Amino acid sequence: MNPIEAFELYRFYHSGDVETAALRGVSLQVKAGEFVAIMGPSGSGKSTLLSCLAGLDEPDGGYVQVGGERMSRRSESVRAKLRAQHVGILMQSGNLFEHLTLGGNIELQMRLANVYNAAEINPMLSRVGLAQRRHAYPSQLSGGELARGGLAVALTARPHVLLADEPTAEVDSETEGQLMQQLMQQRQGGVAMLIFTHSKSLAAQADRLLTLQDGRLHHD
Ligand code: ADP
Ligand code: MG
Repeated sequence: MNPIEAFELYRFYHSGDVETAALRGVSLQVKAGEFVAIMGPSGSGKSTLLSCLAGLDEPDGGYVQVGGERMSRRSESVRAKLRAQHVGILMQSGNLFEHLTLGGNIELQMRLANVYNAAEINPMLSRVGLAQRRHAYPSQLSGGELARGGLAVALTARPHVLLADEPTAEVDSETEGQLMQQLMQQRQGGVAMLIFTHSKSLAAQADRLLTLQDGRLHHD
C-alpha cells in the first residue's frame, strides 16, 4: 500500500460551449520516503491534479487513494478527515490565515487534525526557525518567513503525504535552500512527497521526475 495513489484521473472544465480537459487519465503512486517532482508548463494541469490528490476537488473520472482508503466520491466531511489525517498541503502562497498569528495557525491545524498539543507549537515552529515569530501575524512576516510558516503548518499533523504546488516559486534562494533542507528531512522520515515545481535545483533532488503536458503525465 502506497501513502498516495491515483488511478486514471480525468477532470473537465466547462465554460459555455468550451470544454477543457485539464486531466486526461493521470495515474501515479508515491511510495513512503519517495520524492516525486512534477514539472509542466503553465496550464498543463498541475494545480488541478494537486486539488484532486488532496481531495479539495473531485475528479470527473478515476479515483484517489490515501493511506489505503479511497478519498474520491466520498462525502466532503470524509474527505476533510482523510486530508487532515494524512495529507500536508503547501501552496505557493496563502498557506496561513491572515487573522491568526503563526502560533494560532499551527493550533488551528492541530485541532483540525485532532492532534492538538499546546506544548508542540514551539517545537513545530523551531523546526523551521520561527519560534521567535510565534505571535506575529502573516502580514508581519517576510516572504521567506511566510514560506517557512506555510511549511510548518503543512507538517503540523505529521502527514504521511506532502503535496506542494511550486513551493519555492516566490522565495529567494536562501529560503529555497532552507525549504529544501526541511523537505529532504521529511523524505528521510518516510513522508511521500509530490512536488510541482519549475525549480531545477529542487527537481534535481527528486527520486523520480515526471512531466505533465496537456493533462497527461509522462513517466520518463
Ligand atoms: P497549471 O497549474 O499547470 O497552470 P491548471 O491545473 O491551473 O494548470 O489548469 C489546467 C487547465 O484547466 C488550464 O487550461 C486552465 O485554463 C483550465 N482550468 C483550471 N481551472 C479552471 C476552472 N476553474 N475553470 C475553467 N478552466 C479551468
Ligand atoms: Mg498552477
